[in-house]
Amino acid sequence: MDQSQPEAAGAHARPIRAAEIIAIGTELTVGETTDTNSGELARSLVAHGVAVTRVTDLPDHQPTVVETLLAALARADLVACTGGLGPTPDDLTRESVAEALGEELTVDPDALGWLEGLWARRHQPFPAANVKQAWVIPSATTLPNPHGTAPGWWVDRPDGRVIVLLPGPPRELGPMWRDVVLPRLVERGVGDDSDVRTLRLTGIGESQVVDRLGEPLLRRSNPVVATYARHEAVDVRISARAEDGRTALEVGDEAEAAVLGILGEHVWARGDTSWAAALGEALAARGWTLATAERGTEGALVALLRGMPALRRAEVIGSGPEPQERASSTGEFELREAERVRAAGSADVGLAIRVRSAGQDTAVHVGVVAPSGRHAERRLAFMGGRQGADRAAIAAAAVLQTFLRR
Ligand code: ATP
Repeated sequence: MDQSQPEAAGAHARPIRAAEIIAIGTELTVGETTDTNSGELARSLVAHGVAVTRVTDLPDHQPTVVETLLAALARADLVACTGGLGPTPDDLTRESVAEALGEELTVDPDALGWLEGLWARRHQPFPAANVKQAWVIPSATTLPNPHGTAPGWWVDRPDGRVIVLLPGPPRELGPMWRDVVLPRLVERGVGDDSDVRTLRLTGIGESQVVDRLGEPLLRRSNPVVATYARHEAVDVRISARAEDGRTALEVGDEAEAAVLGILGEHVWARGDTSWAAALGEALAARGWTLATAERGTEGALVALLRGMPALRRAEVIGSGPEPQERASSTGEFELREAERVRAAGSADVGLAIRVRSAGQDTAVHVGVVAPSGRHAERRLAFMGGRQGADRAAIAAAAVLQTFLRR
């Protein structure tokens, strides 16, 4: 298929700064499929400095798609569509683009030859319905799809705007976006100088984070500092643009220093690092292995640490009755447990935790035994039940990380 890019008048002159994403498919608007493609494309575009100004999910209804396409084209430099490239009559994304641009659909002989070859290799007759997957319009070139039968489209508008059509299945969309579309966009000069970074916080709630960062920092338009309450962390995301002769990196660095000055003691990782990865790295840096024993958590700790290469042994023990010695808050019981599981797992570090309901919340007793020393601590995790246990496991991971940092 033709990978070359037609030289439309004005192409290259228009930088791609703002994009709209349109996900097409009735399965999205009736709630049968969750639109993950748009998020995937949005994350990638934002990371490349392109502002995503609108994301729309549409049913397979040509007039609606045409109307939305025209409106998006009037606003954005790039319109990225996903879905509706299949062979059935309700797959009408190509038809919609042709109608919106007033162009004729014709069969691209190269694309047709490629499609016919797919069926020939399986020794099956080529279905007439699939001919439409070889359709193009004069301003479009087809994009290869090594993982399916739906070629994509790259459309160059005379004013330098770009439309791309991508297949709906995520396993087809991902490679086409990464391997074909994104490199072309980058070549075109995509986005502004931008910098995005995320700090992951623990031991503090989102509303406290907001309070301590304060409105002046959170209301700035550059950099944008935003908070997100996630399962494993409260994330503070800093997205910066170049401004007034300063690079995006410099703008981002300054904001990060301000955030660290206020909340630095709560930062445990960056980006999308998981607890398993963060602790795994801290242990690997010392060449240490870990064994864990958890009581009353239904396996919340081992679930959190899943996939950590340093984990040699993980015991999950039911809560059972509360003997006198366990109830003591000195941590002696957890330290003995940590010592025991460390020996049982022939590991360098033993981590023991025990949870107990404390009113609406969950009390967590943590014991750590390592070559560098011993440490016991009691923390309170907000909420009870399974959510409390999950938070208790995170609290234990945070205790271990702080211990390893000493
Ligand atoms: P193909 O011809 O390969 O099926 P297509 O472009 O016609 O490609 P659709 O028929 O729209 O794709 O969707 C196929 C499947 O892809 C859907 O059933 C759904 O599982 C998945 N899918 C479609 N759109 C999305 C989306 N926005 N997010 C996540 N998954 C999607």
